[in-house]
Amino acid sequence: MTLLNETHDPALRSWLASANAPGSDFPVQNLPFAVFRRKAATPSETWRGGVAIGDAIVDLAALTKTGLLTGLAGEATEAGAQDKLNALMAMGPRAWGALRLALSRALREGAAEEAPLRACLVPQSEVEYDVPARIGDYTDFYTSIHHATNIGRQFRPDQPLLPNYKWVPIGYHGRSSSIVVSGQGFHRPLGQTFPPGSSAPVFGPCKRLDIELEMGVFIGPGNALGTAVGMNEAEDHVFGLCLFNDWSARDIQGWEYQPLGPFLAKNFASTVSPWVVTLEALAPYRLPFTHPEGDPQPLPYLNSEANRAQGALDIQLEVRLQTPRMRDAAEAGARISRTSYRHAYWTVAQMVAHHTVNGCNLQPGDLLGTGTLSGPTLDQAAALIELTEGGKKPIELPGGETRTWLEDGDTVTLQGWCEKPGAARIGFGQCAGTVLPARSA
Ligand code: CA
Repeated sequence: MTLLNETHDPALRSWLASANAPGSDFPVQNLPFAVFRRKAATPSETWRGGVAIGDAIVDLAALTKTGLLTGLAGEATEAGAQDKLNALMAMGPRAWGALRLALSRALREGAAEEAPLRACLVPQSEVEYDVPARIGDYTDFYTSIHHATNIGRQFRPDQPLLPNYKWVPIGYHGRSSSIVVSGQGFHRPLGQTFPPGSSAPVFGPCKRLDIELEMGVFIGPGNALGTAVGMNEAEDHVFGLCLFNDWSARDIQGWEYQPLGPFLAKNFASTVSPWVVTLEALAPYRLPFTHPEGDPQPLPYLNSEANRAQGALDIQLEVRLQTPRMRDAAEAGARISRTSYRHAYWTVAQMVAHHTVNGCNLQPGDLLGTGTLSGPTLDQAAALIELTEGGKKPIELPGGETRTWLEDGDTVTLQGWCEKPGAARIGFGQCAGTVLPARSA
């Protein structure tokens, strides 16, 4: 069983030179989607969908007007030209695949469509982005067993991992209204905490502000209330993946989380990358999925031959932190974590199958977070609470600075990419956010 087709051929080159540059996130083999507009235009332009190629974007609204793509690919272009990608997401894999194939052929060196398609390009340097979908519901999972163990060890040294973890893909329902797109800042949250040594809770700015490096999974076609999506159909309900930073206020979380779980510690801001990479584009980077020997095998509703053969995704991930001092000195952010999505204990298909097994309905544009994607070793930890062992061991940054938690003015940038011999390197672009000072209490 192979999911590869002509669009993945690593030998393909585009007539747009920047797409062929080594290290480009957006070669012709990628073709991810975003919602954008020119930032300097007056009057302001309408938001519309676009597809990344090299340092440019194929404007799907402009492409619709050319009549260049017909049939199912043309219908998908029209759906993708709207101000959110929900209509395109609802169409399903046949439509996404038809649009991908048509664009791949039209963007290749020697394509007859070069001249009219070139007229639909907008430079990425001239645009701003919006959240790619109307996110009706957002669910956050907890799929890294390494994160769950590291966190659990801080709260329960004698029993770091709770017994349900290896059986149930743990998750909770989050909040979608405060999900913002990369580039937007957010204010340090105010809230109630119970500092160690205090006799009563205090109110004020969060002092333990953290990151969570996650992948976001955008749902494509939904399922009717009362029906379940089985493992063999689960990926047909997934449009694609983005980078996702689920900012967390650990001191607020520590005081509020019992007995119902995170609330105000998590709903003040979460940041998505503008670009959504389709599952089809990720096909070369699939890996077999297994649970370690001796661990329980997934129950039948969470198990399938395809999931075992190629359910995991090898997506390289890293976190960079740029302090105000680095920004003033025009220094790039320092890398504080480097890991891969391949280490997750539950797959994308298992998240969808589990979420719907009780009849819960997913809808186009819903977002699933994978949970913090820490890898097996400490330098692969994907949150400060792990990297600093609960705030006890500050991390050292270039130039003599240290951090235990985020400080005002810090910018955190997530990056993701896939590369291996025999396949084209593809990337997710960036997911960046800056901590602004708390509003006055
Ligand atoms: Ca999270």
